[in-house]
Amino acid sequence: MNRITRQLTIILAIASLLVFVPETAAQKTEVLICTTCQYENRIVHQYCGNCGESLSDEHEHWQAVRQVMERDFKRFISERIDPPKLFTVPAARVLGSLDIRLTGGGAFGVAADRSFLGKIGVGLGDIAEIEFSTVGMVTNITRGSATFPTSAFKLLLINENRWHIPTLAVSFRSSADWQDVQSDKTVLDANSATQDAGITAVGYDTRFTEMNVITSAQLWSLNLHAGVSLTDVRVRDLSVESYLSGPYVDPEEKQKNLLGGFIGFEIESNPQTKLMFELKTVSNYQFNVDTKEIDVSDAFLAIGGVRFFFSRWLSTDVGVWYHSTFKGIADLQIKLGLNLFIPGGELGSRFRRRSAGKGSSGP
Ligand SMILES: [Zn+2]
Repeated sequence: MNRITRQLTIILAIASLLVFVPETAAQKTEVLICTTCQYENRIVHQYCGNCGESLSDEHEHWQAVRQVMERDFKRFISERIDPPKLFTVPAARVLGSLDIRLTGGGAFGVAADRSFLGKIGVGLGDIAEIEFSTVGMVTNITRGSATFPTSAFKLLLINENRWHIPTLAVSFRSSADWQDVQSDKTVLDANSATQDAGITAVGYDTRFTEMNVITSAQLWSLNLHAGVSLTDVRVRDLSVESYLSGPYVDPEEKQKNLLGGFIGFEIESNPQTKLMFELKTVSNYQFNVDTKEIDVSDAFLAIGGVRFFFSRWLSTDVGVWYHSTFKGIADLQIKLGLNLFIPGGELGSRFRRRSAGKGSSGP
């Protein structure tokens, strides 16, 4: 599974490069070719620089082609289905009713997550969205991050409006069940504190529920998303193996509330590409050797990259991830994700229109 994911993401990266390069090359070849002598004139010239013929017909043709291209680009933007989130930061909008989003991806980097991150989201009535996904948590006892299956619900409170009031949404995310986190021996061996204490294994169960209040606003060409999050983290059944002090078990359930937040922005770079940047807090589980407890605190996660649209329904997110727990840039990870939409709502309304017998032809 994991190997297939990696191969898929490599193919995607190559494909996106292939799409990028010819497009940027095409942008600077704007010339008028004289129909009489085939001489390549600059676009501003009224008459051919070689034979002196008028270039007005060529200008007209060039403008017509350009208009068609611009119209196609505008339609591409307006009809393109954009995931209602950045890399991980949510936006205060929801998927269209009955639209289904499938997201899959993987990570590259020495200390990268070994697991496949997948998501499925469904829009409900244009005001709500449900999502099932795996999310990563930062720990100091495993390589990469521990991943959790979660389910989430987002409700739109203030929709996009003509009074320029920022959109507002609230979302809840919860781990599906108690999740077992087990240490990697290589990580414990590489840590001098756990090594000195003779610790060979650490394990615990955890679950969490988070609530987000999200607002989105548009400032010039910048789309801004920001919010606050409250996360209730539970840890229980801690067990520590040490060849110096013997086994230690603490079944007691511990609870901690973490207040965090997030901010993200997106800029349209061209009709097919958006630049995205986000900064957010994530739960950071650190095993404390002295107190033999799991200290839960906020860590920062920063992600910067692009979202590229292959078509209206297919896009890829490519970004560089950095955690505040990383020691240096050698720990950073490159993550690739693929977003596929199944426009259930659009197909449904098309079908209804057709059966009602009044197919409308919009502009
Ligand atoms: Zn000419």
